Order: sequence, then C-alpha cells, then structure tokens
Amino acid sequence: MDADAAGHADEMSNPPKTLRTAAALIEAGLVPQAKGDAIERVAATYAIGVTATMAGLIDSTDLADPIARQFIPDLAELSQRPDEMADPTGDLAFSPVEGIVHRYPDRALLKLLHVCPVYCRFCFRRAVVGPNSPVYLGPEALAAAMGYIADQSGIWEVILTGGDPLTLSARRLAGIVSRLKAIDHVKVIRLHTRVPVADPARITAELAGVLLSSGKTVYVALHANHPREMSEAARAACARFIDAGIPMLSQSVLLAGVNDDIETLTKLMRAFVEARIKPYYLHQLDRAPGTRHFWVPIAKGQDLMRQLRGRVSGLCQPHYMLDIPGGHGKSPIGPDYLTDLSPGKTYVVTDYKGRSHVYPPQEPQ
Ligand code: SF4
Repeated sequence: MDADAAGHADEMSNPPKTLRTAAALIEAGLVPQAKGDAIERVAATYAIGVTATMAGLIDSTDLADPIARQFIPDLAELSQRPDEMADPTGDLAFSPVEGIVHRYPDRALLKLLHVCPVYCRFCFRRAVVGPNSPVYLGPEALAAAMGYIADQSGIWEVILTGGDPLTLSARRLAGIVSRLKAIDHVKVIRLHTRVPVADPARITAELAGVLLSSGKTVYVALHANHPREMSEAARAACARFIDAGIPMLSQSVLLAGVNDDIETLTKLMRAFVEARIKPYYLHQLDRAPGTRHFWVPIAKGQDLMRQLRGRVSGLCQPHYMLDIPGGHGKSPIGPDYLTDLSPGKTYVVTDYKGRSHVYPPQEPQ
C-alpha cells in the first residue's frame, strides 16, 4: 500500500462534517461528556467515522439507537475473545499479490484502499481499515494487481472493495475502470459500498458515467443494516446509479440490537426492493475482534429467515450467509425446507407456515 497518504489528501474527499474524535461526538450531542474517555480508549485501536448524514439519523435520546450502535464506539470493543481474529474471512491466505484476494475460480477482490466514509463498529476488516493504515494501493502494487487479473483468464468478475471504493475520486476510479476495460475476460465489475447511505451526495451522474465507461456490466452492492439508513437522500443516490443503468444489490449484517427482529428486517428488505435494490446477502457476523456484543446466534438467524419467508414477498428474500473462518468461503446457512426421506424418491418439504408435506404426494391406499 502507498504509505504517502498526505499526497492524496485532496482525493480522500471526506466531507468536512465527518465526526472523527470523541470530542467531535460529544460536541455533536451524540454521546455524553462522561463517555469521552471510554471512546478515546477505543479510538486508540479502532477508527471513528460518522458522516453528517449518519449523525443526522441518530436519535441521541434513545440509548439503544440502532444507527448509533453501528458507529459510536463502545468499550465492549476492547474485549477480545479467543475465537475472534484480525482476518476472520481468511483473505490473507488467498492473496497472491498485494490488493488481490482470489478465492473462487471466476472472481477476485481488488482491494483499492483502506478508507471508508464511516467506520462500522462490527467491521470484519476493522484491523486494517482507518487512518492508521496505509491509504491506497500504490502505483506499483496496483500495476501488479492489474497484471495478475490480466494473466488469470478465468477471472470473469472483479469486485472492487477496500475500505470503500466509492470514497475514491471520480478521476482515480476512471483510471481503475479504464485498466479493467482493457482486460477482455473481465465481464463484470461489482463495487461494494456504504457511500450511498453514508454520504449520498457523492453519488453523481458523473460517477455513474465513470463506472459505465468501463464498457463492462457494473453492479453496485449497497451495505445497509437498518431501514432508517434508506433515507430519502440515500434512495435518490441509488436512483442515480439505477437510472444510469447500474443494477444494485444489498448486503446487510445480522446485528444484535440493530436488525435482529422480524419487524426491522422486514422493513429493511422492503426498503431495498422499493428502492429497486435486490436483497442479496444477510451476513452472519464475522468473528472480528471486539464484536461479540453484535453476535446473533445462527439458530435465531434461521428463525428470522423462516419468518421473513412466511410474511414477505419473494423479492425481499436475501440469502443468509456465513463466511467460514479460515478462508473457506461463503456458504448459505438459511433454514432447510427439504428432508430426503428415501434418496431421490421421497421428500418432506416444509411450507412457509412450518407445516410438513410429503413430496411427491403419496397415492391414497
Ligand atoms: S464501510 Fe465496510 S469496510 Fe468500512 S468499516 Fe464499514 S463494514 Fe468495514
């Protein structure tokens, strides 16, 4: 990574009102003065970032506010359990060159930077994102990463991630997509981002045009966890991508105290679909350091998925996914609806109300 962050400060384009210190959070009225020391202790290890948009969504009179819970540091983050790890998804083991994670045959991650518009308290990359890490993939590392993608003819999809790739300037993104444009076997570019909800003004028609100038099929996967994040400004930002011809997907993390109840999940998935965003993944929380207070047991997650199936349109159904620690990739962990009674012949299938049915239906005796 390019350690010369200062040289690129103009391009980090963090909006001036992003809150980055305990003092700024106190001054904004988001935390009481008495919590300042605790927040500073957490901030010594993990970055703080709360954009003006996200700060505006927080109800500071609600001690359990689900937006605050995602972004305001908590002393619980300094309690690390033995089963928590700095690289819970095992990216390092699948990184043939700096900036690339190539785990599956037909797709690769291209990690361009370590900067995000907000810093989520449950982030699976929390050990490497933030101002204490080098900022960008430097020119030589970027050239090597592009060279790797060009050499691997099986890479059909490149996923731009980080950090958040949409914190890059339009000029820098244009440089990235023009290099990908030159690689024939790459057909799809996907970006994973929180910018449309955290800093919607950054999403412009110009930015959409830059992405489409790649000549590739472009998808944007939006990370949002609570329906309040889908504000009017966020929906308008997403519409700028979608109207330009960039389809959008959602990804959310199942988080205790944020979205681990059926009413909130229902509203969140409907908000995505109403904004023309297809619900894609609901992630089981990765075991990143100091995130246990966000943990939801898998049995509860499966029960929520069952309830979602029973009450909400099929359009609103995400896949419930677990990233298997150690770099073994993602697997769906949603509830099973089919039991094989006699291999290949008879099944029991469970309907959306939890009732069981033999399939194929048995002939009356
Ligand atoms: S935006 Fe994504 S990478 Fe950045 S802190 Fe949040 S979860 Fe982590």
